[in-house]
Amino acid sequence: MSDPCIFCLIVAGNIPGTFVYRDEVVVAFRDITPRAPVHVLVVPAEHIESLATLDEGHREIGGRLLQAAAEVARIEGVAERGYRVVANTGPESGSEVAHLHLHVLAGRPMRGMG
Ligand code: AMP
Ligand code: ZN
Repeated sequence: MSDPCIFCLIVAGNIPGTFVYRDEVVVAFRDITPRAPVHVLVVPAEHIESLATLDEGHREIGGRLLQAAAEVARIEGVAERGYRVVANTGPESGSEVAHLHLHVLAGRPMRGMG
């Protein structure tokens, strides 16, 4: 049997998470090592490995994830100031958890991408 996925365990309530938002498709909880004053992870309740494994059958989930990221920004009171949404994907991204997640980062000025 493969190792249990840490985000699946959080979604199921088997290890603690500080939840910010939840619906039947998407769960959002605070990152345990925040890199900004607001750092929330938005994940599908269903285990999907990464953006690279999102397929035709996941179209609704992909849209719901993005909508939930925007909702998290509203809940956290940063929608007007602005926020960054990141999906690390694949080995060179430095991704550590193989369960698709969007990082919602906000609450401090961020360097531009240029
Ligand atoms: P990534 O590097 O994009 O795969 O992001 C994984 C994120 O999960 C990191 O920012 C970690 O700090 C975060 N993380 C790891 N374990 C937990 C946990 N138990 N609860 C909340 N966040 C976690
Ligand atoms: Zn999982």
